[in-house]
Amino acid sequence: MEELIEENHPVRLVNDVIDRINVDPLLKHYKPGGTSVYHPRMLLKVLVYGYLTNIYSSRKMEAALKENIHFMWLSAMNKPDHNTIARFRSERLKDALRQVFGQVVELLLEEGLVSIKTIYTDGTKLEANANRYTFVWGKAIKTSKERIAKQLDELWKYTQQLAEEELTDEVPADFKEIDSKKVSRTIAKIDQALEGKPVSKKVKQKLNYARRNWPSKLAEYAEKEAVLGSRSSYSKTDPQATFMRMKDDHMLNGQLKPAYNWQISTSNQFIVNYSLHQNANDTLTLKPHLQHYHDLYQALPEAICADAGYGSEENYDYLEEEKIDNYIKYNYFHKEQSKKWKEDPFKSQNLYYNQEKDTVYCPMGQPMKRIGDRKSKTSSGYAQTYAQYQAIHCEGCPLRGACYKAKGNRIVELNHNLRRHKQKVRENLTSAQGLLHRSKRPWDVEATFGAIKHNRGFRRFMLKGLQKVEIEAGLLAIAHNLAKKAA
Ligand code: SF4
Repeated sequence: MEELIEENHPVRLVNDVIDRINVDPLLKHYKPGGTSVYHPRMLLKVLVYGYLTNIYSSRKMEAALKENIHFMWLSAMNKPDHNTIARFRSERLKDALRQVFGQVVELLLEEGLVSIKTIYTDGTKLEANANRYTFVWGKAIKTSKERIAKQLDELWKYTQQLAEEELTDEVPADFKEIDSKKVSRTIAKIDQALEGKPVSKKVKQKLNYARRNWPSKLAEYAEKEAVLGSRSSYSKTDPQATFMRMKDDHMLNGQLKPAYNWQISTSNQFIVNYSLHQNANDTLTLKPHLQHYHDLYQALPEAICADAGYGSEENYDYLEEEKIDNYIKYNYFHKEQSKKWKEDPFKSQNLYYNQEKDTVYCPMGQPMKRIGDRKSKTSSGYAQTYAQYQAIHCEGCPLRGACYKAKGNRIVELNHNLRRHKQKVRENLTSAQGLLHRSKRPWDVEATFGAIKHNRGFRRFMLKGLQKVEIEAGLLAIAHNLAKKAA
């Protein structure tokens, strides 16, 4: 068999690299005693080579182990069945694969193929292995709860009118926050108060319906809200998958699909870090993604380059704190380079700001004094401060029509912290180093996604649940790195 395998065949590389890896983290999952088992190193080789050759199903791997010379050579003629392969993938690899991935990157580092000092980061939404039409929407739950609260309030008020003395001891009912217990208690009180009273047939029917359905419905909503967490939706067939807008929209109807947000960092088209997120918003993924990076290499990168999807004040603050050189664009970075933008004297970003006097000067030269601050919070809870400046007298100004449309004297808002960050980022991005990173980013990280999704045809995860999907992402990353090295 040895003679039949070509000298430079990728299977030899997989065999060689996995042989050099310390599999102690994997061995920890095996207890002594019991029946003999297939060696985890051999199973890992089979899985990595499967992902490298676009064989993702454990049944297909089982078949390949009986008929594909490369798989047979790699497994030394061992023939684990699909259950063994699937169990190894989803259970034994769960805490160990990230360390295995880290060791593969370290081998690439030793050979000078990658750098972990400067990284290019991007994300893609990969479809989950879940039904596209069995969804739970957070908004629908909120609306249903509000409807129940409103109807309960109406029933309560009706009871108050009809049986005022029975409800005199009661504290005024507040149905803003309702749950199963509260609703059951309230309905019982209403029943008690209305006993023997001439209640209309419609109300009787409503009460019967409420008694039978509302408590169980609210208990169900509470369970669903616990699964949702801070997400807006989930899939019933993979509750950890969130509905996201995908780029490949073949039906052209903007349909949301259950998916995971896969973030990677690359260097020379090799993946050096990966993380999976249940949130579609790239901005919120940067910090946890870099945390994974730190866990892998016990240090953070020296420089990071990413697209405008990551450019937020919170991320800029974080990168500054961690002393990471920041080549991350912000919204409008390209727009504000345009002549039209630069020459528009009415744009609040183009108004002259005097830091010493903390005053903005409007296009007519009128000083705009600071009138206060507006505080806001992002969806991740990050606090932002916008300083507000107002012109003293806009009435009768010849530029009034072109300047702004609102009533009263013009108010402009400036986020000084973000302006400071933007200034720094602008300098970085337009420097010689920045231009190099900007031109390299698309072919470095975006091409990696292209290789996996288009060339390798991996467009949907095979496994369900965040933890198992993370294992698949890790196997894909290792396979991609080895395929790249072999090429
Ligand atoms: S409208 Fe008000 S803010 Fe605008 S240019 Fe005239 S004085 Fe200045």
